[in-house]
Amino acid sequence: MKYLDEYRDPAKVKSLLREIESIVTKNWVIMEICGGQTHAFLHHGLDDMLPPQIELVHGPGCPVCVTPLEQIDKAIAIASRNDVIFTSYGDMLRVPGSEKDLFSVRAGGGDVRVVYSPLEAVQIAEDNPDKQIVFFAIGFETTAPANAMAVLQAKNKNVKNFSVLVSHVRVPPAMEAILSSDKNRVQGFLAAGHVCAVMGFHEYPPIAEKYHVPIVVTGFEPIDLLNGMYSAIKQLEAGEALAENRYQRAVKLEGNESAQRTIRSVFESVDRKWRGIGDIPQSGWGLRPEFAAFDAEKRFDVGNIFTQESPLCIAGEILQGMKKPLQCAAFGNECTPQSPLGAPMVSAEGACAAYYKYHRDVAYG
Ligand code: SF4
Repeated sequence: MKYLDEYRDPAKVKSLLREIESIVTKNWVIMEICGGQTHAFLHHGLDDMLPPQIELVHGPGCPVCVTPLEQIDKAIAIASRNDVIFTSYGDMLRVPGSEKDLFSVRAGGGDVRVVYSPLEAVQIAEDNPDKQIVFFAIGFETTAPANAMAVLQAKNKNVKNFSVLVSHVRVPPAMEAILSSDKNRVQGFLAAGHVCAVMGFHEYPPIAEKYHVPIVVTGFEPIDLLNGMYSAIKQLEAGEALAENRYQRAVKLEGNESAQRTIRSVFESVDRKWRGIGDIPQSGWGLRPEFAAFDAEKRFDVGNIFTQESPLCIAGEILQGMKKPLQCAAFGNECTPQSPLGAPMVSAEGACAAYYKYHRDVAYG
């Protein structure tokens, strides 16, 4: 297939659904890791079309959703300073901290700017030598190469008024944290194709073997998602647990080695706190010691901010596949996209936002 439309062909979708139906004999719980995949499933109505034996749960692969509340509060504390121009991807501006969000900081006179690349932030730093420019470096392995590149560029150009507030996370340790929980329900994963395009999928076979779960690398179009689902169900029904690549047009086993080298030249594996989930060992990227001068947490001394989540929000259980958005009592009541209590309702990739947007409250309510 060459064109995007072909990956949305209704006849092929129906045919794949029939194939899945023909092989499923038991109940299975499958988690799609990525928030983009969650939205694609709901946007195309595929979750409703799957056989009833298959329960889809939604994983932690939404970078805005897993960025801890205190990291938002640190961003707000830095962005509120008169000497700072705070730069970020647009999604982060609406995420509520414990008292306000970055939009409120901007409304109050703070210089908070949306950028489309961290390299723009480096340029802003060069153009404003009398200000401190901070970039909010969040995300999974997909955004890490560009963020690492920005730090390298700032270092090479000797741009001293640039720093990054880092909250990078990695997928494989999160999968292991989900699978090793005594409350785990996940029996198979659809892994995020774009993450694997960067990192490859060589980290997955040991996880599949250790926890005896199929892990199928999957894209984002209906045919991709259903192909991935077919492979996962086929393996489960056969008692197999393999790491399999069903996104061959974008993913190689070894991934993009040049991008990985760039990441590792700037970042190293660190323990990281995930919003709603807690600390996961070695689940993040942090700046290597030789790049400590670019660490905004150290530059602005905000490392000691700690914040409590809303007690109403069950995002942690949703992001681990233990519950679904409609099981949250606040869904559509205290928590809506206009007035979100938790990050999964704010982010364009959040599961709660997807259920709200695609009216799953009506479908299931
Ligand atoms: S509906 Fe709102 S409060 Fe409930 S889990 Fe989702 S984000 Fe949290």
